[in-house]
Amino acid sequence: MPDTPSPRLLRVALPLPLPRLFDYRAPHGGEAGDGDIGRRVRVPFGPRELVGVVAQVGPAQDDAPDLRDALALLDDGPLLHGELLASLHWLSRYTHAPLGEVLATALPAALRRGEPLPDTHAWAWRLTEAGATARSGLRRGSRPRRLAELLGEGARDERGLDEGVLGARMDDWRTAARALLARGLVERVAVPASAQVPVPQAGPVPNAEQQAAIDAVRAARGFAPMLLDGVTGSGKTEVYLHAIADCLARGRQALVLVPEIGLTPQLLQRFRTRLGVPIHASHSGLNDGERARTWAAAWRGEARVIVGTRSAVFTPLPDAGLVIVDEEHDASYKQQDGIRYHARDFALVRGKALEVPVLLGSATPSLETLHNAGAGRYACLRLGRRAGEAMPPSVRVVDVRKRALEAGLSLQMLDAIRAALAAGGQVLVFRNRRGYAPVLLCHDCGWSAQCPRCGTPEVGRPMTVHAHGKRLQCHHCGHRKPAPLACPDCASLALQPQGVGTERIEEVLAAKFGDVPVLRIDRGSTQRKDALERLLATFGTQPGILVGTQMLAKGHDLPNLTLVCVVGVDEGLFSADFRSHEKLAQLLIQVAGRAGRAQRAGEVLLQTHHPDHPLLATLIAGGYHAFAGDELALREAAGFPPFAHLALLRAESRHAEPPLAFLRAARQQIEAVAGPHDAPAIELNGPMPAPMPRRAGVHRAQLLLSAGDRRRLHAVLDAALPALSALPEARRVRWSLDVDPVDLY
Ligand code: ADP
Ligand code: ZN
Ligand code: ZN
Repeated sequence: MPDTPSPRLLRVALPLPLPRLFDYRAPHGGEAGDGDIGRRVRVPFGPRELVGVVAQVGPAQDDAPDLRDALALLDDGPLLHGELLASLHWLSRYTHAPLGEVLATALPAALRRGEPLPDTHAWAWRLTEAGATARSGLRRGSRPRRLAELLGEGARDERGLDEGVLGARMDDWRTAARALLARGLVERVAVPASAQVPVPQAGPVPNAEQQAAIDAVRAARGFAPMLLDGVTGSGKTEVYLHAIADCLARGRQALVLVPEIGLTPQLLQRFRTRLGVPIHASHSGLNDGERARTWAAAWRGEARVIVGTRSAVFTPLPDAGLVIVDEEHDASYKQQDGIRYHARDFALVRGKALEVPVLLGSATPSLETLHNAGAGRYACLRLGRRAGEAMPPSVRVVDVRKRALEAGLSLQMLDAIRAALAAGGQVLVFRNRRGYAPVLLCHDCGWSAQCPRCGTPEVGRPMTVHAHGKRLQCHHCGHRKPAPLACPDCASLALQPQGVGTERIEEVLAAKFGDVPVLRIDRGSTQRKDALERLLATFGTQPGILVGTQMLAKGHDLPNLTLVCVVGVDEGLFSADFRSHEKLAQLLIQVAGRAGRAQRAGEVLLQTHHPDHPLLATLIAGGYHAFAGDELALREAAGFPPFAHLALLRAESRHAEPPLAFLRAARQQIEAVAGPHDAPAIELNGPMPAPMPRRAGVHRAQLLLSAGDRRRLHAVLDAALPALSALPEARRVRWSLDVDPVDLY
């Protein structure tokens, strides 16, 4: 007698930190089939219910007595399938993270919770036949009558009027619509969202460099990674717009990734008017419902152009034609917790699987990308000049050694500000420290205010002075308290804020230049999402001064900005982080690029105590590429990325010892699988306390793995990680693995 085949089971990826799938019987005694792969499923898990995704379907592996029934399949067909599902499997392997957590990261929150794929139709209203005849009988001047007239304007339109259009033409139309609906005089109909098409407007005629770049993207077939290396204001966005228009003309979808701060209403409006299609945005300012709708519209192929921040890299693209990553060097593309993916790198992986061009744009490309371009792996498209009339800004170093400073500003700088304002221009003063002053110091005994929750007895963390000296705040953990009136150690009243932050600069400039607006832009002054836009809108184009942190390095266009003053970059010249020079060079070029975007010539003043520092000298004499060439040579000599591949094992705990104990055990495990002769292949550094050894009361330590060969690194991690989870020391810490870490803190 043949065995009865055992029923096939659902192997479910659940959002749990366990590197395995979980078996369930199909719900309601049903039969599991291959068509279930990629469908969301609700399952019991202990006393809880979880939503997961069916990753495999197969026979029971062993006689698991505690096998349970899944509660319900949530989608009619696979929600995740094809390229996106395959790419997410890749991401799970690459980050060494459980598939269930990766899938949960990729899905918008509403879908992760198990809500149905949302409706993405737009809704329109139209008169019914009865309504068309009855409308003249409605009371004159009443709202229902006005609405009926609106809907009956001209020939009765099959499509009706979109709710958006109605909203623009009549206040409170919904009450009237409900009244008419109740009498059967109007009906609500679903219309495709993409039907609301504005008329595309022409942009400037591309210059020769732009045209060459546009042609290169147009000629690309299949996967084609390209670096669009263009100085600020060279018209990269114009190239994107032409490439997207080509992509749309071929009937394909385009995905555009932008840094969090670059996704301005200005940018969306520019895309909308130029492309003549609805632009679907995806960013953290949207609520869960809106994000899920964008995702669903892309999934259905209705969304043709999707513009979004980091997590938009998980957008489904059934008709993909083009992927663009703007400001590809931007640090916000790296997710810093949970699944630590890099959106630019994952965009390249998806572009390869989708067989479409991937355009990486930047005025200051990351060294990784420059290295790939140099090795011929990426095509390189150059825009060397500013577009239109704009001239490149002139850069001057202001040597402030032994010079008098007022709130950190030299007299030379104050004079330049006065001259720029008098000439009718706007001024940006850049200082990458918010608050009033970085340190509060006792002049009599040397005590300084330290955060009680961060730092250690050996390495203290000063609290930043805020609110003109009245409040202290820790920028690492957010801890706040009032500033003491007297020194807690010696009772002296001689407490002095040391150094300058944006608040103090604002104060001094407002006192000196009282006749123009002085506006401070930093995370303190722009808590809400749209606050930056509104603040800059009120600033207008009249003479005035902006003081701010790197929030001002990009985003909103300021055509009347003629002078950029950079203060206090010297800390960045001497940081221990091997990426600090790259970050500083990028920041300086990006901030300088804000000057003179229009017809007016721009000037950049760079104030420093180290005018001869090689970074500044090279950057000013040779520009970003000269700097990048030198820096790549240094990285190669030191064996740092992009010439080595890193993975960082982090551990943290409320107590000082467990993180180090776990990492010591982890090191032994890794050495055990790598073998003692693997030394040149895998280099281990640590365990050691993190550069920020304690934050918000949590002790932190790390172990750095470095390898010349990426595959070797991953093979060792694959072999060692299961043993790490099983270590007894692992139970006393929170630990995580960061592949290709960007910040080693
Ligand atoms: P980027 O993205 O490189 O910073 P943009 O595409 O935003 O540059 O262009 C900078 C400015 O130059 C914009 O105001 C844009 O309208 C203008 N511009 C771009 N290309 C041209 C061109 N070919 N002719 C005239 N103006 C242009
Ligand atoms: Zn004191
Ligand atoms: Zn703190």
